Amino acid sequence: MTRQNKICGFCNKQLDQTHGNRRYHPECAYAKKKERSINQYAKQNLQLDPYWRNEKILRELYHSFGEMVEIDPSLLGNQQFDFTICKTKRRVNGYWQMFMHNYGFTIKENQKIILCKQ
Ligand SMILES: [Zn+2]
Repeated sequence: MTRQNKICGFCNKQLDQTHGNRRYHPECAYAKKKERSINQYAKQNLQLDPYWRNEKILRELYHSFGEMVEIDPSLLGNQQFDFTICKTKRRVNGYWQMFMHNYGFTIKENQKIILCKQ
């Protein structure tokens, strides 16, 4: 009988061979379960609340593009960004900034979007 090197599905390190059916280290199984329930909670939250979904989209785009790059509004629209619920407006340098919590955006005359952070 060949001994297969089993790998933990969470940390990708080798598993103890004395426990045949194991897919995770005990602590990894726990971490995995916790991670799953956090993800589920976050997912439910995002489904329930378009405000936080918007915020997440802005946050992720902000981390990819920063404040200097003009991006196309379709980048937001493609992720089901809801432009109709952007109510917090602030006038900065002649432009309206719309904020979702800490992250916001400005629509320029050329219809491109600039991201910003409070
Ligand atoms: Zn592990």
